[in-house]
Amino acid sequence: MAKITDAVDPGNAGGSVLIPEIPTEPNRPLTFKCNKCGEVFTDREARRQHIFDQHPFKRPQLLVGSRMVKERGEVVASPFPPADWVIQQAERIVIDQQEVSSRQACRRLSEITSGFHEVTLTSADYSVTYHIEFDIPTEAQLATVERVFNTLIVNQPLESDRIAQFITVAKQEDGARYYLEGVSDFLYGVLAKDQRGGTSLGPDDYSAKYHAAREALRFLNRPLANLIKALVNFNDNAFNEAVALAPGGQVAIACQVMNGLRSGKHCSAPDTRIASDHSLPVDTLTAEIMRFCSLPLAEQQEQLPQLVHLASKRLTTDHDRVKIQALAMNTCWEAGDHEEATHWTKKLRHSPLFEALATRIIEDVENE
Ligand SMILES: [Zn+2]
Repeated sequence: MAKITDAVDPGNAGGSVLIPEIPTEPNRPLTFKCNKCGEVFTDREARRQHIFDQHPFKRPQLLVGSRMVKERGEVVASPFPPADWVIQQAERIVIDQQEVSSRQACRRLSEITSGFHEVTLTSADYSVTYHIEFDIPTEAQLATVERVFNTLIVNQPLESDRIAQFITVAKQEDGARYYLEGVSDFLYGVLAKDQRGGTSLGPDDYSAKYHAAREALRFLNRPLANLIKALVNFNDNAFNEAVALAPGGQVAIACQVMNGLRSGKHCSAPDTRIASDHSLPVDTLTAEIMRFCSLPLAEQQEQLPQLVHLASKRLTTDHDRVKIQALAMNTCWEAGDHEEATHWTKKLRHSPLFEALATRIIEDVENE
């Protein structure tokens, strides 16, 4: 029986093929042509620079309240006057299949309060369609959320069941949807972070809940919404953003203290104790850190060991641990215990947030 492989062409094994000669045109200079205006350049970089200068890429943009609108998933949950809507680089504007002028578009967008709407912006090079949901609550719907919150959450022990009850009642009474979502996500986050109040969430779930809360409340300019956004930013160690939203009192002081330490400044403690002035439930570590910031120096010194002890606990997040270390470093420095302050600088020398202050303290100690 003949072997099957005998019938198979083995290809060029052992043979060779010709490489076709590559045609060359030695005298023809290489040029780079702009495909927009036809201008010719002798090198690629010159053409790139020309396109950059002469034909900027014109992608239309829609902005509201000086932020870019997302093409998908954007929810407008608070009213904006026509001047807050900005349309850039669009030659043609279509809202819900109707072509409008830029002026008309901004007026129309400021008037819509509910439903899904489509905005298409077209320039010479590009067309962008935005799918925007409008869910702008009335003052009454916003007030309902706050009223139910005051009744069921303020000055009550925070528990999972109670948050569920808050949601049910606020929904029944037609409370503003995103406001309710933001507040309840934050509260669920508090329980998750502390692992208390009958939460079914894990300790790591708090951060998703906090961020969902900040997202839902993004456009809401109400004291409670701003306080929650400030606390989420504080929790994330985004102190600059936290300072801008903090209402005053303990929250504002803590945000300012941490922001000051971040920018490399020593912070002196308040002369007198600042009382807590908010009744929004917060997680234990945030509450402890804020309380500590509002104490006079003598009390800070006295209570520092307890705060430091909290930092070593298993549930303490990295964000909170580094805040506590920075406070410890500052308190020791302010109290004149430079040896102990130097000990803390070692932990913070490579922290992206507090290295400026750590380095400064190291230098000050060396120069003494
Ligand atoms: Zn050109």
